[in-house]
Amino acid sequence: MRYLKCTTHSNNHDLGKLYIWLIVSVFCRVNDGRLSYTPRSIFVNYSEHSALVVRFIKQGQTVMDKVGKALGKFMEQRAGRNSLATFFLLGLVSCGGSTSGDEKNEPVNQAPVFTSDALFSRTDGVLETGYKAVATDNDGDQVTYSISGGSDALDFTIDGANGALSFVVKPEFVNPHDENNDNVYELEITATDTKQLSAKLTVEITIEGSQAIVTIPVVVHVLYLENTDHVTNISEEKILSQFDVLNQDFRKKNLDLNKVPAEFQDAIADTGIEFKLATIDPNGAQTTGITRTLDKTGGLFSDGKYYTAQGGHDAWPTNKYLNIWVYDSSDRNGNAAIYGTGQLPGGDPLTDGVTVDYRAFGTIEPLISSSQGHLGRTATHEIGHWLNLLHIGAGDSCDKDDGVSDTPNTSSHFSSHPVHPRASCGSNDMFMNFMATSVNDSEIVMFTQGQKQRIFAAFAQDESRSQLFNSNVSN
Ligand code: ZN
Ligand code: CA
Repeated sequence: MRYLKCTTHSNNHDLGKLYIWLIVSVFCRVNDGRLSYTPRSIFVNYSEHSALVVRFIKQGQTVMDKVGKALGKFMEQRAGRNSLATFFLLGLVSCGGSTSGDEKNEPVNQAPVFTSDALFSRTDGVLETGYKAVATDNDGDQVTYSISGGSDALDFTIDGANGALSFVVKPEFVNPHDENNDNVYELEITATDTKQLSAKLTVEITIEGSQAIVTIPVVVHVLYLENTDHVTNISEEKILSQFDVLNQDFRKKNLDLNKVPAEFQDAIADTGIEFKLATIDPNGAQTTGITRTLDKTGGLFSDGKYYTAQGGHDAWPTNKYLNIWVYDSSDRNGNAAIYGTGQLPGGDPLTDGVTVDYRAFGTIEPLISSSQGHLGRTATHEIGHWLNLLHIGAGDSCDKDDGVSDTPNTSSHFSSHPVHPRASCGSNDMFMNFMATSVNDSEIVMFTQGQKQRIFAAFAQDESRSQLFNSNVSN
């Protein structure tokens, strides 16, 4: 069976028009055509033109009534092989000349078409996703929905009639059960019409935490030296200035977000994480969240800072507190040798935290004279590591990836003050990310949505971080 779209003529006594009409009608194959016919039957019946006409009427249910007389006259005058051969030849030459007209239609079934979104997000804790698959069917057929695939297909059920999608088990943001534990659930939905034609749509359901803000209790261990007017024994005011920076940077409240180029604006994330000095110490007593220790570790590169017995200060339980050691990393010339370090999740619990040179901590003097570390972004960056973020660029290879999709791969070595646009690895570099390296404090201003997802995946998977997520040692 072929399908044609036909043009009709109200007056087809003219044989030239008839030719064209027949050619168009019989030979043109048009995908969205209307008139159906079986080519062979036309020619089999050519000598019985009245039967031919009848057959046309039956099959096409259109237009032939208007040209039936002309066709009959034509067949009387030119019955025979020659005229049919002419039909055939002209038909081949003219194929494709269909136009719309006042045809009546026999619908050709078409598959449903999805109109619902492929991406959807909602907060955790309820079975109903709130997502509804919607597909329209041009033929007016009823459409039914089913789950046909995807890595997280088994986590869902769908209402076949109305497309409403539900979880089998309530999703928990801090304990995702999608295949790669990133809170993005992937499935494929199929919409099928009554004639079994179908369309497929891959859908990603992103689960967000219903607990909007996560507060991390922090203990700051100040390791000071006896020299130089005790400047290394930094003030509480200076410590609090660091918390102001953290709570702006992680909450998308920093005032320099206008430095993000337009192409990256949509990626900026409010991570929903805040930091607060602990108010309860490991023994259950009230605390300022600050310890002060005369530093006797005796060496820039010593790990002694992590241990009381080696002249530093032991970590408070790292499953309940973020430990920050603030110390003097001076080299022989008295300059800060290491602005900061951050330990990724999964490491030694006794050293699990970040270290920051006292001159790179907070925004109050004493500060590093260089513009690179004077705005408190060293701690933002190091805590980013502690929350499982990697540098956005390996600095050498496009193959190395930070495991975050919305931070473009980069091979650039950044200077302290890069200028947008800077391209590497086929895209512009996001050097204004907090996890860029070597860039001035004043030029790094954002985390991304993908980094936020990676942070929360770490909260879920890493045991010590997941306990921190619910730690209650600050109020
Ligand atoms: Zn780093
Ligand atoms: Ca990336």
